[in-house]
Amino acid sequence: MSGRPQLRGLVHKQLMKDIGLAFVVGGAAMLAWNATIKWPTERRYNEFNKQLAEVKKRAAATWNHPLLAPSALDRCVARVVVVAAAVLVVTAAVVAGVVSSLSSSDDDNHHDGPPTNRSDYLGRALYLQSKFPLIDGHNDLPYQLRIQFGNNVSLADLAGGLNTTQTDIPKLRAGKVGAQFWACYVDCSTSQFTDAVRTSLDQLDTIKRIVGKYPHVFAMAYTANDIRTAFAQGKIASLIGVEGGHAIDSSLATLRMFYDLGTRYMTLTHTCNTPWADSCAQTPVLNGLSDFGREVVLEMNRLGMLVDLSHVSPDTMRAALDTSVAPVIFSHSSAYALCNNARNVPDDVIERMPANGGLIMVNFYSGFINSTGTATLEQVADHIVYIAGKSSWDNVGLGGDYDGVATLPVGLEDVSKYPYLTAELLRRGVSDENVNKLNGGNLLRVFEAAEKVAQQLQQTTIPSEAAIGKYLNYSCRPDF
Ligand SMILES: [Zn+2]
Repeated sequence: MSGRPQLRGLVHKQLMKDIGLAFVVGGAAMLAWNATIKWPTERRYNEFNKQLAEVKKRAAATWNHPLLAPSALDRCVARVVVVAAAVLVVTAAVVAGVVSSLSSSDDDNHHDGPPTNRSDYLGRALYLQSKFPLIDGHNDLPYQLRIQFGNNVSLADLAGGLNTTQTDIPKLRAGKVGAQFWACYVDCSTSQFTDAVRTSLDQLDTIKRIVGKYPHVFAMAYTANDIRTAFAQGKIASLIGVEGGHAIDSSLATLRMFYDLGTRYMTLTHTCNTPWADSCAQTPVLNGLSDFGREVVLEMNRLGMLVDLSHVSPDTMRAALDTSVAPVIFSHSSAYALCNNARNVPDDVIERMPANGGLIMVNFYSGFINSTGTATLEQVADHIVYIAGKSSWDNVGLGGDYDGVATLPVGLEDVSKYPYLTAELLRRGVSDENVNKLNGGNLLRVFEAAEKVAQQLQQTTIPSEAAIGKYLNYSCRPDF
């Protein structure tokens, strides 16, 4: 017990000694390092900098001296040397490329050209879709974001992938989708004559926020040329289609503002008649379009907004074809003759498409493909071939209606599957050229034609001031 304070003293003394020793050893090591490495290095570095400054000074003086400035011949020789070096580098790169392509096997998937084997339909499909944009006419992902996420775009991990939607970024990339018309859709049965304008604006904003959230994947597109530019940059061109004339609340001013916000097609009706156009889903009231309805179509022509005839009654289709001076589209409709559903296009209307120059973009929904309600990819191809046969390969396109429908054909379950449809058409002997028209070429042509019509009309006509008149019997509506 009594030895303890003594031991503590000893430990303290030893500690102080060791710390002192550590300082001495550390200081000596640092001095040695400075003397042998740091100082000589710094000296050499300073010397080198001095020499470099000297060399620069001499070079500048030489170059600026009128007698020593390089002659035209010297410049010429210098240029020859530079060009020769460039040629050498390019040649080396080409030789390296040839050697590496020769050394890789024939079935290598990474080559740039089309597959040499013509029976490699999927390979050819993927190649064509990488060269020409596939442009789909109708996708309801924005509506899914409304009902699944309350339009909180921040909560939807489209990049990581969603199991509750038929569309997300990995699936779009796998499907090699080049451009997409996103549907700006709200249910007409609850919103018509109430909050359709506001809720449609919600959806338009949602589309822009999806694009804004993933700027490396999507790019807004407002012209045919914007689609080409986005595709060339490897981005999915994103366009806005307003699905249902109820969205404009019978106001041409509202229509124009939707155009200004980026809308490039409007479906004249959804499943409700509007006061100016009949839907295919309700008892006809107008047997087509009213005078104001014709005014809506012509104002859309003047703006350059595509007239979309999906969802309208057959008589509205015919009236719109009689009225429109620009090609029209069906953004997501199939052939009535193959599946007797009122949403599909009857033969007499299909046959009018070549004269109009417009486009029927085939809907994949099982219920519009086959009356039994179950369908296959091959049956979708049947609708495409049928419509092309009744009109031409200039008048058919794709409007999958993904995320707007519950059941899809076997083989076309989500947006990743487009290449398989392309492959099926190639397998049937459809030419590359016609496949390219179907996938996107026709939409680009129609869009450009509508842009041209708009340019012409804007030179000769002012914005329409037509109004629907005393606003039916809705008490909260103004009558002016
Ligand atoms: Zn629809």
